[in-house]
Amino acid sequence: DISELVQKMIMNFDKQFKNKQVEIEFFGDKTMVVADKDKISQVIINLMSNALKYTQTGGMAAIWIHNNDEIISLRIKDSGIGISKEDLPHIFERFYRAEKSRNRLTGGSGIGLAIVKAIVEAHKGTIMVRSNLNQGTEFVITLPKQVN
Ligand code: ATP
Ligand code: MG
Repeated sequence: DISELVQKMIMNFDKQFKNKQVEIEFFGDKTMVVADKDKISQVIINLMSNALKYTQTGGMAAIWIHNNDEIISLRIKDSGIGISKEDLPHIFERFYRAEKSRNRLTGGSGIGLAIVKAIVEAHKGTIMVRSNLNQGTEFVITLPKQVN
């Protein structure tokens, strides 16, 4: 149940979100998926930690799980610093960090999203990103409910 998994992850991150005064919301119902639970947990952790790291104090994040016929989708949106048009095509590359992130106190090695993409694709899923600089970022992942 990927909704249950996401809610558990949100509880694990609760303190960090509270400390930064970033509000996090979840929307979704029980949704069963055949997938590698540890790997999907890693996907959720990486995306949530980005939403937290790249959102300023007082910001917001939300996660949705949508249940379709043969696929599910996971949407994670934040009101953070956003990603420029120039950086956007590169963020899934290993060790790539957008210019605004490189000189930040918040560390990171630029590997998180490369791992996310590899896991999603190993599940025959897709990943998409939309972002506007200084407004926020949204990632949409789809996963087939069954592995064929
Ligand atoms: P790591 O995840 O390895 O600790 P990282 O967060 O820098 O380091 P990725 O998660 O791969 O690396 O992200 C790559 C880059 O994409 C980030 O450095 C950042 O510039 C940008 N990015 C990723 N997620 C967001 C987001 N939610 N908002 C704004 N920028 C983001
Ligand atoms: Mg990251």
